[in-house]
Amino acid sequence: MSYKADIVIIGAGAVGTAIARELAKYHVHVMVVDKRDDVGGDASKSNSSIICSGADCPPNTLESELCRSSRAMIEDVVRELDIPFWKCGAIMPAVTQQQMDILPHIYDDAYANHVYDVEYLSPKQILEMEPEINPNVLGGLFIPGDAVIDPFLLVVAQAENAAANGVEFLLNAEVKQIAVDQGRVTAVETTQGTIQTQLVINAAGLFCDAIAGMVGEADDFVVKPRKGQFFILDKNTPVKTSHIIYPIPTPETRGKLLLQTVHGNMLLGPTAEDLDDKDDHSTSAEELAGVERDCKMLVPNIRVEDAITQYCGLRPNRIPAGFHIGFGKKTKGYFGISGIRSTGISTSLGIAKYVVKMLQESGIRLERNFEFQSHRKGIEKFSEASDERRAKLIEENPLYGRVICRCETVTEAEIVEAIHRPVGARTVDAVKRRVRAGTGRCQSGFCTPKVIEILARELKIPVTDVKKNLTGSNMLAGMVRRGDINA
Ligand SMILES: Cc1cc2nc3c(=O)[nH]c(=O)nc-3n(C[C@H](O)[C@H](O)[C@H](O)COP(=O)(O)OP(=O)(O)OC[C@H]3O[C@@H](n4cnc5c(N)ncnc54)[C@H](O)[C@@H]3O)c2cc1C
Repeated sequence: MSYKADIVIIGAGAVGTAIARELAKYHVHVMVVDKRDDVGGDASKSNSSIICSGADCPPNTLESELCRSSRAMIEDVVRELDIPFWKCGAIMPAVTQQQMDILPHIYDDAYANHVYDVEYLSPKQILEMEPEINPNVLGGLFIPGDAVIDPFLLVVAQAENAAANGVEFLLNAEVKQIAVDQGRVTAVETTQGTIQTQLVINAAGLFCDAIAGMVGEADDFVVKPRKGQFFILDKNTPVKTSHIIYPIPTPETRGKLLLQTVHGNMLLGPTAEDLDDKDDHSTSAEELAGVERDCKMLVPNIRVEDAITQYCGLRPNRIPAGFHIGFGKKTKGYFGISGIRSTGISTSLGIAKYVVKMLQESGIRLERNFEFQSHRKGIEKFSEASDERRAKLIEENPLYGRVICRCETVTEAEIVEAIHRPVGARTVDAVKRRVRAGTGRCQSGFCTPKVIEILARELKIPVTDVKKNLTGSNMLAGMVRRGDINA
């Protein structure tokens, strides 16, 4: 296949989709390509889910500026895109004198970052706000602007909204080469075909150095993975916090935190492990034991035995570090984004504005599209509907009467809608991340066969073609006896 686009964005994570949605506000033909079968990115779907106010960013950096500017926009954007967001605020308790001595530096950094609402807390105030915090707490800080979000839904919603406004998505399309003629980008070659274009934006996260290398723009940096492992606890665990609980950071790491997600599960982690292998998504008992140990320093009664799953994410750790956003030095039509390591969810809205402004300042004419539709409606959650509303939903669509995921009360109607939306779900994981089927206590033990059947029926493919996520991850190996498995 061959395509044409004014701008090609490589990477459909938080950064790529935010840029796509921002560009959809202009009359320009944009294509987003990703090697995965779904939008959602790599790091963007496996992180701590925090929208930082910018208080603890390195002061006087582009990261700090973009964190703050994004925080100012996020509450409007989550309303427009109808996604869950919880401004719970964060507490940073100090439990040793050494940690107490670090608090003023963190307070000063917040001030230097122009985050002026950070306050000191007494032990009494901390224990009133969070009774489960270590009773030996000596003091701490309150960061009211920090919040939690569903990072995957943020990406999906941005992609859906961008698509509804004309942006094209080409998935399962790995970029293999970027064609350059006389120092200027002419095309992007993917496993799904070639896209003729004069401008490519590299938002490939962990692999942005490989993409930059295709146009000779990776001489001065590499990206290595920094793994972070997490526990997710059952919603019914008895000890929960209602704020993000941060440890006191060290120069090496922000440390392991606790928070309650927007869906009501406690999340504990992450670790910070520097690796070479960009495909190492394993978790380990030793590192997770460290998560338990450190989190118990903050909240001693937290029950890791209530964990329903563990997972890891790989931060795209740029060496040398720092946000780098701008045009290539050698290749015209190449725009690189690298170093978006630990705050890419928080900064993505600001990054998108910043990128578009840089394009305009370079002389690229972007004519405003005043027809841009900023709103997107999320998939209505049967689990959160009143009895009256449930009855009405079932009357209008009987598929609401079929609960597929019993742990999270997800109905067939929600799954079918997730499949048929713009940039819809094509895999079991894509369904899970959009409507939470399989995210509960049984971790998909009961609902997976049903989800496979629904995907096969709606996509009109054999059940043996239904994948968990990536190419080769087919859920069923084949038939064990004759018959029509789809019947
Ligand atoms: C453990 C952990 C905790 C974190 N906690 C937070 C937090 O609480 N708050 C916060 O703001 N940030 C957090 N982050 C950071 C945040 O997740 C990242 O900064 C952000 O997700 C980066 O987004 P991205 O779009 O640049 O990259 P990604 O999400 O990695 O997306 C890049 C995309 O590029 C695609 N791609 C790569 N190569 C190719 C190719 N050759 N062809 C086609 N497509 C390609 C990939 O498939 C992927 O979809 C955390 C990260 C981790 C790992």
